[in-house]
Amino acid sequence: MKVRDEVGTMAKYIFVTGGVISSLGKGIASASIGKILESRGLKITLMKLDPYINVDPGTMNPYQHGEVYVTEDGAETDLDLGHYERFTNTHTSKFNNITTGQIYNCVITKERHGDYLGKTIQVIPHITDAIKDKIKECAKVSKADIVIIEVGGTVGDIESLPFLEAARQFRLDMGYDNVLYIHLTLVPYIKAAGEIKTKPTQHSVGTLREIGIIPDVLICRTEKPLNESVKDKISLFCNVKKEAVIESPDVDSIYQIPLVFKKQILDEIILSHFKLICKFSDLKDWEKNVVSRVLNPKSRVTIAVVGKYIELQDAYKSIYEALVHSGIANDTKVEVKKIDSETIQKYGAEKFLKDVSGILVPGGFGYRGIEGKIKAIGFARQNKIPFLGLCLGMQCAVIEFSRNVCGLKDANSTEFKPKTKYPVISLLVEQKKIKDLGGTMRLGAYPCKIKNNTLASKTYGRNFIQERHRHRYEFNNQYRKIFERKGMVFSGVYPKKNLVEIVELKNHPYFIAVQFHPEFKSKPDKAHPLFREFIKAALVTRKE
Ligand code: GLN
Repeated sequence: MKVRDEVGTMAKYIFVTGGVISSLGKGIASASIGKILESRGLKITLMKLDPYINVDPGTMNPYQHGEVYVTEDGAETDLDLGHYERFTNTHTSKFNNITTGQIYNCVITKERHGDYLGKTIQVIPHITDAIKDKIKECAKVSKADIVIIEVGGTVGDIESLPFLEAARQFRLDMGYDNVLYIHLTLVPYIKAAGEIKTKPTQHSVGTLREIGIIPDVLICRTEKPLNESVKDKISLFCNVKKEAVIESPDVDSIYQIPLVFKKQILDEIILSHFKLICKFSDLKDWEKNVVSRVLNPKSRVTIAVVGKYIELQDAYKSIYEALVHSGIANDTKVEVKKIDSETIQKYGAEKFLKDVSGILVPGGFGYRGIEGKIKAIGFARQNKIPFLGLCLGMQCAVIEFSRNVCGLKDANSTEFKPKTKYPVISLLVEQKKIKDLGGTMRLGAYPCKIKNNTLASKTYGRNFIQERHRHRYEFNNQYRKIFERKGMVFSGVYPKKNLVEIVELKNHPYFIAVQFHPEFKSKPDKAHPLFREFIKAALVTRKE
């Protein structure tokens, strides 16, 4: 069934807003809505509107923002786009994430160009028009039947007002039946009173109504089940049909959420608002291949993630998810032991890593914690513990090998020591010329050719792959011969520029490190091969 017309104006639009507090899981709720609609045969796309003034999150510290998710076309985006790609078949791109910074940038550029000659540029209509144009552009580019738009922030924030105003106008422009508003809210349980409280939700919906948006559906995050009388109350006070008051309890796995929504026929509620009739679906495959496997593992294994943002849940989001996926693929619960690389730097690797079955070193920037990562990798190499290095993790593996196997004393990356005697990781000439740091790294998908009879070729089962990048520094090809002589295998190369993409070691159960970010392409029902085989190897040599 086709919903949209050729120019994309007939797409249907769902706005997802959040109320009461942040961190309620708006991204996962939006992705789950995408999943249940996609399963009905609709082509969907998901967008994130971010209220901050940065043009993109690429220049933000992970402590501020969490992971930066990179799309195939090289956009540095919000981590919610990772959820969108993991839950659905949608391919996100630079069109799927817009920020206040981008919108203002675009309006001010037009103003300087003289496009609005004579006019005073204002939030309404110029900024709101620019927002609406971006949403319509995404609908058009994606050719989606349904565009799900997650509005960042919490209702009541100053920053998100222009986005909410644009969302309000959208129904006016597109027609009542073509736009739906979903509000995600919190219904807290107050222990001292022994009661579930609906007041915060009432207030949040009240604030949304002041802006002119009357939600059609409420998704209520709750620790305790909502009984009928609570649902009645929410429905009456918030002016939302009772069947559209959806309960979203805490669950063991985020991948259960589409099933939670499906059970309460949220897909039907949405389709009937849009007056769409679609094929039936029961999400049985998702239940069988993802949910029941993640909830019923047959074994368990502990993997150390040695990074410098480990206290922050969101900093390595896609990596943690990829580990869950590889657990599903191996019917195993992957326990993650998060270890601060600076701790290893101070106290040595042995104490923290002797009882783990695999070691993963993720990407990152800057010198802090590097020596700890190098120690952890040396420990994995010498003790034959399965190791997976990602981006900076590969660069650290190269430094470790150069110092401890090739005998290049104090070898380093020029990122950490610009005048190092042995710059085994360094900048390409084109990167040396760059002055602006925003959006200028090697970004997005690049092809990689894999050598036959290597761990990489066995793992991927292919000779050509395409993976996503986000880095400035590269392996310095001047050192290739020495490394090869000492036993490092360069199993993957970007042919056009002869850049090293994959390194590995022989005589080790699993030692592989990559210059790209495989974690961005892992899915719950299709674990990334590098992660899947990493866990498989860890199960074989398990230490616990
Ligand atoms: N800091 C390194 C570089 O810029 C690695 C980046 C990363 O791990 N994403 O090359």
